[in-house]
Amino acid sequence: MSTLVTRFAPSPTGHLHLGHAHSALFGWRTARDGGGRFLLRIEDIDPRRCRPEFERDLMEDLAWLGLQWEQPVRRQSDHLDDYRDALERLGRLGVLYPCFCTRKDIAAEIARAGHAPHGPDGPLYPGTCRGLSPAERRARIAAGQPYAIRLDVAAALALTGPLAWHDRARGPQQATPGILGDTVLARKDTPTSYHLSVTVDDHLQGVTLVTRGEDLFFATHLHRLLQALLGFDPPGYHHHGLLRNAAGERLAKRDRAQTLRSMREAGLSPAEVRALAGFPDRPPA
Ligand code: GLU
Repeated sequence: MSTLVTRFAPSPTGHLHLGHAHSALFGWRTARDGGGRFLLRIEDIDPRRCRPEFERDLMEDLAWLGLQWEQPVRRQSDHLDDYRDALERLGRLGVLYPCFCTRKDIAAEIARAGHAPHGPDGPLYPGTCRGLSPAERRARIAAGQPYAIRLDVAAALALTGPLAWHDRARGPQQATPGILGDTVLARKDTPTSYHLSVTVDDHLQGVTLVTRGEDLFFATHLHRLLQALLGFDPPGYHHHGLLRNAAGERLAKRDRAQTLRSMREAGLSPAEVRALAGFPDRPPA
């Protein structure tokens, strides 16, 4: 049996709240209980939303909460070449295409068609640019039109055949990446996306069990497809339930009163915050 390796992978776009504490403790406790290793990864590929001070603060908050993680911490913005390489490999498989559509174009195309298949994140991309000829693509790129790179899911699945993955909470899963449509894997100015970088990093870091919130359950269908295309062994998965506030809503970064910082400033102890995050300390055996 290989050693269990879990990770917590926050984006430094704000201060951590109780929901993050739940997710971090979930991964950390799972590793500790299984005699495994726990990693922290900084997912900062979006320079407009991520800030170094949030990265510093989140490490301070996690240490205050009592977590330890291995060094060095992987920061995605330091590894853009790894994602570029993966994207080139996918490109050579013929499963990518440039998409020149703006959000407005997509909305207009959906309105024109009168209907659009919906996925868990809303209407799916209608595939407008999938059928452009190679000459048209080259001409538009040469003319300087901005574009994103999309995955042609049907072409990709035709290469891999049916795929499965396993969730510790929900059991065996048949991968159905088509429910997300032809996802964007990179933009002209950012050579990657959440989906691509998380798949590459979990592989390169040897993560054996991805623990994360069930809001990302559907993303795993796509990650499984990317793993198969890139020749990566799939890790196991454990998507955990999300903490909710008294009104039953998911906690969000905008719920300021719920940040770990504000709780600490209000005088709560790390043990009290661990308990509020769903992980009360166990009495010594
Ligand atoms: N960076 C993602 C987030 O903050 C989590 C990614 C993951 O765990 O796969 O929501």
